[in-house]
Amino acid sequence: MADLFGTFGIRGLVNEKVDSELALKLGQALATHLNGEGKVAVGYDPRTSSEMIEHAMVSGLISGGCDVLRVGMVPTPVLSFSANHLSCDAGVMITASHNPPEYNGLKFWDEEGAGFVREREEELENLYEKGGELADWNELGETEKVNALSKYKKALLEKIPKFDKELKVIVDCANGAGSVIAPHILRELGCKVITLNSQPDGHFPGRMPEPTPENIGDLKKAVTSMGADLGIAHDGDADRTIIVNEKGEVISGDRVFALAGINYLKDRNNPRIITTVATSMVMDDAAEKLGGEVVRTKVGEPELVREYRKNGGDLAGEENGGVIFPDWTMCRDGIMTAVQIIDYAARTGKTISELSNTLPEYKQRKKKTDCPNHLKQKVLDELSKKFADKNPDTTDGLRIDVEDAWYILRPSGTEPIFRCFSEAKTDERAEELANKGMEAVKESIETVKKETS
Ligand code: MG
Repeated sequence: MADLFGTFGIRGLVNEKVDSELALKLGQALATHLNGEGKVAVGYDPRTSSEMIEHAMVSGLISGGCDVLRVGMVPTPVLSFSANHLSCDAGVMITASHNPPEYNGLKFWDEEGAGFVREREEELENLYEKGGELADWNELGETEKVNALSKYKKALLEKIPKFDKELKVIVDCANGAGSVIAPHILRELGCKVITLNSQPDGHFPGRMPEPTPENIGDLKKAVTSMGADLGIAHDGDADRTIIVNEKGEVISGDRVFALAGINYLKDRNNPRIITTVATSMVMDDAAEKLGGEVVRTKVGEPELVREYRKNGGDLAGEENGGVIFPDWTMCRDGIMTAVQIIDYAARTGKTISELSNTLPEYKQRKKKTDCPNHLKQKVLDELSKKFADKNPDTTDGLRIDVEDAWYILRPSGTEPIFRCFSEAKTDERAEELANKGMEAVKESIETVKKETS
């Protein structure tokens, strides 16, 4: 196996790992996977390489006999929406999400608009290696251009009523795919919208597409200097949202998920919220407010969808500010997330900081250390022995819950590193637990290195 796929989709440097030949062959492999028939939605973000990859992907698909809906430059949630609502058999999104401009990638979606599960990615990779089957000259696929943006916008505006109050919102799309729709939707819902970095530009001239507190300094300043009610920062493909409150302070992804969830689920009975073992306790507080429950899975969007399909649920999301509203799209949707937060503020007449203060404050620490990929499992086994008396949760790595705090030790799925996250009510306690966890990880790495040398 060429290990083409990472934890979710393919990502790499343009014209090194991700080039037109890869896209062409993957298109043929996907067509074969779909038995050389059916329809596939293909969309892309504004990266300089995206059109090149799109042309090759489309060519691959039609040479394998599939029809293609070309939805053009769209955010990832719009592609997912298209795969589901425009009667497609699959979807392909060309994006490297939050990675720097020299990267690109491909993510595959099923007919319900959910990301391909691992098993389908593996089958696609096998077909890619074997080479897909080509259609006869009279059975080649056809292409059609579709305005998916307007269909998505129409559906969203049908689902969400206008906000109760006009809020002043600054929207920072990182010059990414959100630029082509996010500001327009908020304006239609009744916001006074000021845009920042919202002209699509694959060089990402305004800021890097990862919405970290360091990268969104301009947004923080703009919110306070213009007296806005809030700021919205999307990542490069707008499947995630980070919020800046009226004081110019960043609201973390966990809290964005919690606040959006409280608003979205306000009328549901006992909602079931799906999240991962690495998400803040603030989700438990949100669920308590709603009279619902939190179910925790392994880390990663496909794991959330897997749990939803198995046991149902009302909302799913991760600590990075990516939220899935399953009765809307089966994909993390940064636009719907922003809409929910603004609706919450408009409906209650509260500021974002007042809303955030309705939830307890937690402190987190994230630490990491180098660990060769081939040693990760052995290190995890060693740690399991070490922490056996603490009854760790082994859903993904080892999560140790102590009174009012927790920490998790887990290997990265993509990089040769081992991580430790901790969360507690004070900085001191979070630091203490993260250090304790990291020390155990480092000791275990040493033990395993000695044993294997
Ligand atoms: Mg993204």
